[in-house]
Amino acid sequence: MPGKFRNKTDEQYWTLALDGPDEQIGDVQSCHAWEALLIDCDDLPHAHAIVATDSQGFVDVETFDTQWQAMREWTARKLVHEQPGGCCAESADEH
Ligand SMILES: [Zn+2]
Repeated sequence: MPGKFRNKTDEQYWTLALDGPDEQIGDVQSCHAWEALLIDCDDLPHAHAIVATDSQGFVDVETFDTQWQAMREWTARKLVHEQPGGCCAESADEH
């Protein structure tokens, strides 16, 4: 799936996310987004990032300077997926 990026750096984070994120959740078909958590990215301006891709292929990258900030945002985003009635709620998970 070709991604659509705001800039070259976003594309680099996205490539890393496809390679194997530290955590990931959701998908572009049944969710609002596929989201991936990256911790300790080498050779990139910010060490930590969350990469979100929507069904149109648009890639949104949010970067963090500390792992704590990244984990706090990641937890909040996971909650959106996993809340009752959410796209990744337990009951909707049997497919
Ligand atoms: Zn979801």
